[in-house]
Amino acid sequence: MAQAQTNEQMKAQLTEANQRSEVQISEGVTCGGKTLLIVGGPCSVESSEQMHTVAKALNKKGINAIRGGVYKPRTSPYAFQGMGEEGLAILGEISKTYKMPVITEVMSEKHADIAVHTADVLQIGSRNMQNFELLKHIGKLDKPVILKRGLSATLDEFLMAAEYIMAGGNNKVILCERGIRSYDTATRNVLDLGGVVALRQMTHLPIIVDPSHACGKREMVADLARAAIACGADGLMIECHPQPEKSVSDARQAISLEHMLEIVESLVPIAEAVGRKMPGTVGSTNKRESVVSLSLRDAMASELHSIRHEVDRLDATIATLLEKRLLLAMEVGELKAELKLPIRDVKREEAVLDMVAKHCSIPQIAKKVREIYKSIMEASRILQKEEAQDKESKVA
Ligand code: PEP
Ligand code: MN
Repeated sequence: MAQAQTNEQMKAQLTEANQRSEVQISEGVTCGGKTLLIVGGPCSVESSEQMHTVAKALNKKGINAIRGGVYKPRTSPYAFQGMGEEGLAILGEISKTYKMPVITEVMSEKHADIAVHTADVLQIGSRNMQNFELLKHIGKLDKPVILKRGLSATLDEFLMAAEYIMAGGNNKVILCERGIRSYDTATRNVLDLGGVVALRQMTHLPIIVDPSHACGKREMVADLARAAIACGADGLMIECHPQPEKSVSDARQAISLEHMLEIVESLVPIAEAVGRKMPGTVGSTNKRESVVSLSLRDAMASELHSIRHEVDRLDATIATLLEKRLLLAMEVGELKAELKLPIRDVKREEAVLDMVAKHCSIPQIAKKVREIYKSIMEASRILQKEEAQDKESKVA
């Protein structure tokens, strides 16, 4: 019979050396080191547009990971159950576009095997903290995991759940305190910050805090987030949404993207006070120069991506409008032919050039726009000429 593990052999246990673990979740993003892990995103992935809006906003502030549930553990079987694989594809697109690690919950081995190819981090939700078969399966994967504390789990039970994952060989476990059940219904759950402090003395694993599920009310999220960082949490996971009241799940606790950015801003001095650093900021004194410059480069690369995304959207609009404009020019060409007017009308062209230049507020840009419009009008004339020749050859 197999010998039971003794306490001395526990993999999650903090050793005498007090050495804390750092879990790498993607290139340049870790949890458990000096830099905090700040995760934002909606409770559920609802559409590609929603996720792009969220990612774009979060990326600007250097928030280093995005969440979104596609398999949702809902209390009622009749409530929205998540977008499933369609939602996963959206997360894949977000991760690629914004170079931002994505986090999503899995509720079964099957979900894990599908999501492992897209997600940078798999989340085990509170309701599955003691789903031991699922934990064993996750233990065999080479993927970081956020393990949320069970609805009414003790800290020992919480650490034993982590142990199930680590026993299988997967040491990339991040614990997440998200509130526990109590008798008081004033808040959705009770955020156990004392438990966070206790955990830091029990385990070397990184510990993040989810204030959203803990309190269930958007007006409480900011204060709890700040308290969590002040008491030594390695990061936060906060639910935010472009239109919080319209969230398909957990709307009451969802905060706006603007509010999310304000919270991040307010965390800077708190992080500094406890010797930590917010992602996307350059720390004043630290020995990890290379990590700092790497995260700065990452932030700049993300900014480049996000600007290019905006440029692509503008180009698509410009192309559609140009097509419309050239089609109108062809109609004008037909009328000119019938009225026996010449194709080129220099006065009219000058008037157009002046008009478009007037729409630009920067003189240097106005000059360039004038040049671009000269080409557009040349294209119009060529189309009008081609159209006229076409007609002539048909008549002949
Ligand atoms: C969630 O993160 O969306 C979630 C369902 O959390 P929890 O498992 O903590 O309830
Ligand atoms: Mn939620």
